[in-house]
Amino acid sequence: MPELPEVETTRLGLAPAVVGRRITRVVLRRPDLRWPIPPEIPALLPGLRVLGLRRRAKYLLMDLEPGSVLLHLGMTGCLRVLEPGVPAGPHDHVDLHLDSGQLVRFTDPRRFGCLLWQPGGEVHPLLRDLGPEPLGPEFDGAHLFRRSRGRSQAVKTFLMDQGNVVGVGNIYAAEALFRAGIAPDRPAGGIGRVRFNRLALAVKEILAQAITRGGTTFRDFQGPDGRPGYFVQELLVYGREGEPCLVCGSLLHGTRLGNRASVWCSRCQK
Ligand SMILES: [Zn+2]
Repeated sequence: MPELPEVETTRLGLAPAVVGRRITRVVLRRPDLRWPIPPEIPALLPGLRVLGLRRRAKYLLMDLEPGSVLLHLGMTGCLRVLEPGVPAGPHDHVDLHLDSGQLVRFTDPRRFGCLLWQPGGEVHPLLRDLGPEPLGPEFDGAHLFRRSRGRSQAVKTFLMDQGNVVGVGNIYAAEALFRAGIAPDRPAGGIGRVRFNRLALAVKEILAQAITRGGTTFRDFQGPDGRPGYFVQELLVYGREGEPCLVCGSLLHGTRLGNRASVWCSRCQK
């Protein structure tokens, strides 16, 4: 599943080809992805210039004058910039043609992604209750400390709650907790400021690192240039259950928290 670094990698790859361009034509090959695609999209977009391409959590917002196209890659979605004439396959659901001659193609075999419309001056309901961006200044140890008081929830589940901070998925939560030395099942409300400072820093470092490597996800993810992400080579705990900890050598445990697989080291993480 594309996580925040993959979405940011996609944004960085698309922006130079898209921003400042006019959309000339929209091809919808089906009426819905996870949700119906607003039927007015093919008539609304042509002629409009792309003013910017932003990311909020794992959503991409393509800003046009009357509003923004809101995109999510779901489990298996990808957005690529293509030269004209590349034949569409069965999972190529949307093409946005640009005045450069290129097109942006949205491919999504499992169709958990979405293409929606956010009118100018409004915030789409999907974006309303999101916590701060993990790489922004609002997200730090003090924020986690405040949000967690009185919470008995496991810290890993707490960290993956989009209301507390956006875009920290299972891989990055496991890795950040390992780097911060915090056991994933520890109640969030019992963790002190200093340890939360360490955790917030670990989240920022690991996401920034993953973005510079072009994302992580091994199975399906390819960047807009068709290259896979390479961060997987630097994962210390995720996917390594039963293997030796790379720091202390003891065997890594697998457990389930909030119905997600969690791998951790009981010697390095307390
Ligand atoms: Zn260890």
